[in-house]
Amino acid sequence: MTTSESDRSYPARQAPGAETLAELDARVIDCRACPRLVQWREEAARTKRRAYADWEYWGRPVPGFGPPDARVAIVGLAPAAHGGNRTGRMFTGDRAGDFLYAALYDLGLASQPTATHRGDGLELYGVRITSPVHCAPPANRPTPEERDTCRSWLARELRLLRPTLRTAVVLGSFGWQAVMPALEAGGWAVPRPRPVFGHGARATLRAADDGPPLTLFGCYHVSQQNTFTGRLTPAMLREVLGAAAEAAGLPVSGRHS
Ligand code: SF4
Repeated sequence: MTTSESDRSYPARQAPGAETLAELDARVIDCRACPRLVQWREEAARTKRRAYADWEYWGRPVPGFGPPDARVAIVGLAPAAHGGNRTGRMFTGDRAGDFLYAALYDLGLASQPTATHRGDGLELYGVRITSPVHCAPPANRPTPEERDTCRSWLARELRLLRPTLRTAVVLGSFGWQAVMPALEAGGWAVPRPRPVFGHGARATLRAADDGPPLTLFGCYHVSQQNTFTGRLTPAMLREVLGAAAEAAGLPVSGRHS
């Protein structure tokens, strides 16, 4: 399949309407707006990692995962070439996901501690996981242009979640910077100067109308670079996720264990 002009401009042209989150998820998986990422995600799906030679890779944009009435959003960076790009679900099938889902399970926010494939039965309770870039990028580094091209998907997702969404945990500085304009487009007012990312950082954004505010929580990304070195420990992750869930009114267990 080739990338047509109309495909490339799709996210920017899509008018906000009465779409549901399920419809948005169904649309994003057909997006081909970023030629470099389309090429990379499909190349990874063709060549595969040896350990996954038997897999039929997803090789498409990875939609957000979690219920449409989530009270907490978790915003990462982008799918991994042999993780989400293989399985078709956020943080599923890689070490970063193992770390994240174990913490969510410990807190009572996930039905099981592991995420291996789309049919593994995993459910999230009150939490939706998404990312500013929905396609796996080379070296896990999307370009600023790719980040900006994908923004409308995130903005629309956040807007659809807005009736229930009360907090968002942002994993890493890339996601923190990328989510700000998406939040503005989604209906919240971002203060100037913009809040600065840090592990443990918090910022409350008022709604542009009379709606409830949204509190952002900064957290180091769950990449192996951080978890293998001890920069981010399970306890640190549980602490941030648990605080965000409690602030959003979700029941939480094991936050301090
Ligand atoms: S990164 Fe986003 S905008 Fe770019 S092709 Fe993937 S889904 Fe589309």
